[in-house]
Amino acid sequence: MKSLYKERDARRYIEKYRNVPEDLALRVYTSHLIGADAELVLHGGGNTSVKVLVKNILGEEREVLFVKGSGWDLANIEPKGFVGLELSPLRKLRRLPRLADEEMVNQLRVNAIEAQSPNPSVEALVHAFLPHKYIDHTHADSILVLTNQPNAKEIVEEALGDKVGILPFIMPGFPLAKAAIDFYEKNSYVEALVLLNHGLFTFGDNPRLSYERTIYYVDRAEKYIKKKINKKVFIHFARKLPPWKKIVSSAVRFNQILRGRVAYRDLNGSLRRFLIEVRSSPEILKISLSREAPRLCSTGVLTPDHIIRTKNYPVFIEKVPSTDSELKDLLWNEVKKYVERYNRYFQRNASLRKTSFKKLDPYPRVFLVGGVGLVALGYTRREAKICADLAEHTLQAKIKAESIGTYKSLPEKILFEMEYWSLEQRKLGKRAFLPLQGQVAVVTGAGGPIGLGIADRLISAGAVVALADISKERLKKVEKILVDRYGSSWVETVVMDVRSLKSVEEGYRKISYKLGGIDIVVPNAGIAVVGKIENLEVADFQRVIEVNLTGVFNTIKASIPVFRRQGTGGNIVVISTKNVFAPGAAFGSYSASKAGAHQISKIAALELAELSVRVNLLNPDAIFGEGEIPSHLWKEVGETLMKSRGLSAGDIEEYYRKRNLLKVKVSPYHVGNAVVFFATEQTPTTGATLPIDGGLPAAFPR
Ligand code: ZN
Repeated sequence: MKSLYKERDARRYIEKYRNVPEDLALRVYTSHLIGADAELVLHGGGNTSVKVLVKNILGEEREVLFVKGSGWDLANIEPKGFVGLELSPLRKLRRLPRLADEEMVNQLRVNAIEAQSPNPSVEALVHAFLPHKYIDHTHADSILVLTNQPNAKEIVEEALGDKVGILPFIMPGFPLAKAAIDFYEKNSYVEALVLLNHGLFTFGDNPRLSYERTIYYVDRAEKYIKKKINKKVFIHFARKLPPWKKIVSSAVRFNQILRGRVAYRDLNGSLRRFLIEVRSSPEILKISLSREAPRLCSTGVLTPDHIIRTKNYPVFIEKVPSTDSELKDLLWNEVKKYVERYNRYFQRNASLRKTSFKKLDPYPRVFLVGGVGLVALGYTRREAKICADLAEHTLQAKIKAESIGTYKSLPEKILFEMEYWSLEQRKLGKRAFLPLQGQVAVVTGAGGPIGLGIADRLISAGAVVALADISKERLKKVEKILVDRYGSSWVETVVMDVRSLKSVEEGYRKISYKLGGIDIVVPNAGIAVVGKIENLEVADFQRVIEVNLTGVFNTIKASIPVFRRQGTGGNIVVISTKNVFAPGAAFGSYSASKAGAHQISKIAALELAELSVRVNLLNPDAIFGEGEIPSHLWKEVGETLMKSRGLSAGDIEEYYRKRNLLKVKVSPYHVGNAVVFFATEQTPTTGATLPIDGGLPAAFPR
């Protein structure tokens, strides 16, 4: 590992953040250097600080500690992500024999120099008590490889030399802060502190020194590990990997059945589903197929704060059985064993304490699956990704640790304390569950305005949406709009031709590989051709039937095996049209194809009820473009249709608005709201049709 510090870049930060103290601008710079390296910190892990003299409103100078705020990531932290804290009152806290966590948080908050600042890191007091101007704290993988060993102290001394202080694992917060300063005062020659099973603190009187000490010690650790590994091979990586197609098809079945297995009803009776992130890089696959894979799953977390994301143990699955029923049995048993083990662990540890704890869900978060790779679960996609990243790093670190010695995790007593520590749980944020959270929706014809409206509303309700369309270009446009609104983790795209069952199946496989499965299906793709029967070409008629009728059939049909494997019900909301009840002349292919799709959807309602899958229909009318997304259907047929009614094309939107009872313009978001209404299962309804047309008596469902 090499220092990336460049004076030129440092000056650029000072220039960029002219309105904050220079020391803080530089603190941002070296924090970014640390945050950019996943070997040093992952997902908001680690923290940094600087002490600066700042004038208060009366012009009085006082020492202020700027320390990373909770919820910020070192990789992209801004000056405002550092919480300014009055140093002198915080330092006095050291006199206390003990300080409860909640009171510590309170003390940190009341000493903030800005009322609006975020909560400072739980490790803020370590930064406050140590005297150095700059302090850098990381959870570097290679340091943990050295510390997660039975004879960690010896190894760390041998690897990092004698200017490093070594502390046992101590709960972060007040106890760790006290231990750190007590140690430092007796051993003020040290340049760094290694906290066993936790990480590294380095310090210095300038940003470069403190940062480069981190790099220096991590580099020493890496070199030490490299040298040792040559002497002992722990893992026998698999040489032959399965073909990619096989990996994906196994992962897809595994994901779908697993999602069903771990879905559970919460105290409010809502079904909680997980999203899944699979990692099948060649390295991970080689590990998953190695002889040592079970052993790698028999040991616990790399560092205790991973436990809230990954739980302590991964589950090892040797291989994915070839039939669904065998796979179901296997997962049924493995998850059952895991849950029982977790419940025992909870009982054992909760009963030792005076306070009572609300038990967290007992489900595993990480699976290592032979021939599939690493499978990680989370309540949101972001959580699933974080979990997968932590699990990947942990696996690699365990292999290194086993190669230089024996990997050893912390005892469960400490892990329990961490898992149920209020300050740790707070990191997950207040988990207000959105009604569709954890669900995956697929919307076909998503490259048009209605697709955008539906996807937008589904995401607002908490679902992750896979946008499907035959046109990659149109998908990209809608994707961009949604990513700008909600961020990239809520949207996936898949190019799919609904006319082909194979193409739809392939699309669903991609979605299930990437997200875990499918819960909501919205067949929305449609085309239209204007023309009286007399003039309508058979080929044009058939083209419309292929998309509007066969397409809906395929989209529903391909979803059934997915629903069956998951076993958690689901919702199909078919975008039909008011034309089914009130057809129009010169619109025969469209109306007939949609009427057919309507009927097949009702049949699906009859057939899929046994799987608790509901099928409902929406009948919108006259929905035009939305912002920059044009309606291709209207572009193609609007003019001809208006002409056939003796009207000019320019008046089209007004014409349709005036036509309905409520005199309203119907928007794609209205359709989206109706999809959400059905998907959230607020009424026990299936086989129903809901008009979204402003009221058209001729099209009242009957
Ligand atoms: Zn830490």
